[in-house]
Amino acid sequence: MVFRTLDDLGDIEGKRALVRVDLNVPMAEGRVTDDTRLRALLPTVLELADKGAKVLLLAHFGRPKGAKHSEMSVSMVLDALEKVLGREIMFVPEITGEVVAQSVGILGNGDIALLENTRFWPGEESNDPELAKAVAANGDFYVNDAFSAAHRAHMSTEGLAHILPAFAGRSMEAELKALEAALGTPEHPVAAVVGGAKVSSKLDVLTHLVTKVDHLIIGGGMANTFLAARGVDVGKSLCEHDLADTANAILEAAEKAGCTVHLPYDVVTSLEFRANPPVRTVNVHEVAADEMILDIGPAAVEALADVLKNCRTLVWNGPMGAFEIPPFDSATVALARTAAALTKEGSLISVAGGGDTVAALAHAGVTGDFTFISTAGGAFLEWMEGKLLPGVEALQIPK
Ligand code: ADP
Ligand code: MG
Repeated sequence: MVFRTLDDLGDIEGKRALVRVDLNVPMAEGRVTDDTRLRALLPTVLELADKGAKVLLLAHFGRPKGAKHSEMSVSMVLDALEKVLGREIMFVPEITGEVVAQSVGILGNGDIALLENTRFWPGEESNDPELAKAVAANGDFYVNDAFSAAHRAHMSTEGLAHILPAFAGRSMEAELKALEAALGTPEHPVAAVVGGAKVSSKLDVLTHLVTKVDHLIIGGGMANTFLAARGVDVGKSLCEHDLADTANAILEAAEKAGCTVHLPYDVVTSLEFRANPPVRTVNVHEVAADEMILDIGPAAVEALADVLKNCRTLVWNGPMGAFEIPPFDSATVALARTAAALTKEGSLISVAGGGDTVAALAHAGVTGDFTFISTAGGAFLEWMEGKLLPGVEALQIPK
């Protein structure tokens, strides 16, 4: 994968940079409750500003569906963004035209402006080339630093890259490098841990991974579907019985591709889905008809730790159990700590992503110890499905 980065920008003093960032931070009562995504854009924005560019930030916020909704104005995050960047930011309530041109005229070199929510205009999501041209008229080059939006071919994530010289920002660059190291050209053996609730939401992920990795570790609710497909009685567990054929087809494809699939052979069960209920740790063949499997068992975790010890690369999406409720976080936490320790020792490259996965790894206290943790959600999953994301494709330099 070859793409231009900020290292390829020559002298940008006084040049206008249109920079696509991710401002979709969680908010409560008008305040930002987690500024992780704002901190992620800091390196790119400050680097451009410090090199003297006039930085124009573009982002979407929420789903206004092509109309102006004041409660979805990106100005809602202006204060939090100023605080994170430690700079004053000018807010511009448009993305095209005279208002933007005049604002750019007022900006000094190294100043930063935030343009309005791109999704207030229908041409953003329809990727209207006319809108892209109008936006591009106020920029000299384009930087995409929003990997999390790169699975959408929208005006600000894809269209602009075809009109202006396009560069990957520092966060985008780090994400692409990590993903390339994990599944593009990884060091083998490669293990994938896939968990979470349902097989149906990750069918394409599983189908792609069996052709790519040496070990596929299946945990979480989706392991129940695979166990049931193999004739195991999973009682009242979350299970997609209608996907038995699909699960068996994935197992067959894995065998053909030389990918070893690891299903748990012991599990933690309970009659109730609540914190700290009475539980049993049993072999998968001993689950009672009225029980639910809510975590994989300690023997399985130990065996999986041995698998990871022999691997060089790990890609992880989905918790091993219902980790939000103790003690069903045990397997996820234990396996996460093993992966973190191996990464620290230098024997494993570990990349993880997914909304609940990020929360589970934070809960395990290993966020800083993985090689890379993606907060990209949908884009991360599509990448795990083997798709070329349009926003990334548009940044690539043709060979
Ligand atoms: P991600 O957001 O990281 O892609 P998912 O959304 O696919 O992950 O899955 C996370 C959810 O799966 C969690 O809410 C967790 O409680 C649930 N889950 C995991 N294992 C089980 C299980 N055995 N039974 C029921 N739910 C489970
Ligand atoms: Mg989820």
